[in-house]
Amino acid sequence: MRKINTVLGRIDSDDLGLTLPHEHIIAGYSGWACDPLAKIFDPKKAAAQSVKVLQPIQALGVRTIVDATPPDLSRNVEVMKAVSEELQVHIVCSTGRYSEEEGQWTYLKRRASVKINSIQTELYEGFMQEITNGIGSSGVQPGVIKVATGFGRIAPCEEASFRAAAQASRETGLPIMTHTEDGTMGPQQADLLLAEGVSPEKIMIGHMCGSSSIAYHLEVLQRGVNIAFDRFGVEMLVSDQVRMETLIGLLGMGYVHRIVLSHDCAAATYGRGGRMPQEEAVKFKNWNFKNIFTNILPVLKNAGVSDDQIRTMMVDNPRRFLSGE
Ligand SMILES: [Zn+2]
Repeated sequence: MRKINTVLGRIDSDDLGLTLPHEHIIAGYSGWACDPLAKIFDPKKAAAQSVKVLQPIQALGVRTIVDATPPDLSRNVEVMKAVSEELQVHIVCSTGRYSEEEGQWTYLKRRASVKINSIQTELYEGFMQEITNGIGSSGVQPGVIKVATGFGRIAPCEEASFRAAAQASRETGLPIMTHTEDGTMGPQQADLLLAEGVSPEKIMIGHMCGSSSIAYHLEVLQRGVNIAFDRFGVEMLVSDQVRMETLIGLLGMGYVHRIVLSHDCAAATYGRGGRMPQEEAVKFKNWNFKNIFTNILPVLKNAGVSDDQIRTMMVDNPRRFLSGE
């Protein structure tokens, strides 16, 4: 049994329970703060809304949520703390960085351009600051490092973030979870982290279910790392039906100990709301925190996936990943 950092302090890994390992309490793409029409951010309202949205999954038995929001997607630990307290669900937050295209890099690039420090050094120092001393003045320590790559390539800033994450992980023992874009770069992400000396069980390659190619999944799994089917309900590229078929195939090949399940949902967002046109909205019709419980697990069970296998993916694997046990 090991101690896990949550937003309300350290807990025993045995207390993690049923875990959704890639979700967001509140997140927003950079730029929302410059939108004159954005709703004014109110942390109390955001927390209240999140609690309302998350209540049903608390009732379904979820005990832990990993918030995969890096600082440059407006991570908010105060909101997470309020939600965790009110809802009595553990929340594990992240340090890390988002992709070069969609994260916030200008500040670090400017500092590197005048040779103050390399981007990798600054990232590493930042990760270590948050892991050892806590995030800002909150005292909250992250339980995981989140890094990301864009579509079909690992951009220079992303490579720096992976190397910095690896160094911080080696020194602190924190695991690393990733964002892959549209089913690309999974093997390359794993190779980069493994080459930096991170052990495979501390690596979780995210959004793998953005690909329905068994060959692609095996390429990543052959490296010994964990993979996440963490976008159930996001049916832009891959439908949940195809996701489940891919998952069942991998379970049949004996990979139950290396797969986790989640939605990548956000309970609250910053900025302006808005309605998608119907043809877009339909691709997200099941994208909610209950989707796995109401739509996915029943189908998996019907297909012969056992309660034991579900428990392995939703309780044991996240615990092993977070605790390094
Ligand atoms: Zn996410």
